Amino acid sequence: MSRTSRFGRSHPGPEWRISHRATRTDWSDAVERCATCHTDIDMREAHYQVVLDRDIDHSGKLSFERQRVVFCDEACADQWESHA
Ligand SMILES: [Zn+2]
Repeated sequence: MSRTSRFGRSHPGPEWRISHRATRTDWSDAVERCATCHTDIDMREAHYQVVLDRDIDHSGKLSFERQRVVFCDEACADQWESHA
């Protein structure tokens, strides 16, 4: 399973668009931090994820990059987006 990179507390920038938002539970024993309130989140417990895509132009060949941001719940995700 490939890992997507994270950008921590800062917003990724205007070229990133939200492709997916959902509550989910991962089969992973990782602990990540909410990007808004910095609460530790156990990935095995229900949490909220926002997936962002950005187009990359490799000399005419379009590709895209994907990042995932983790929140404890939807309210934190909304707060993070409103501070974009
Ligand atoms: Zn939070």
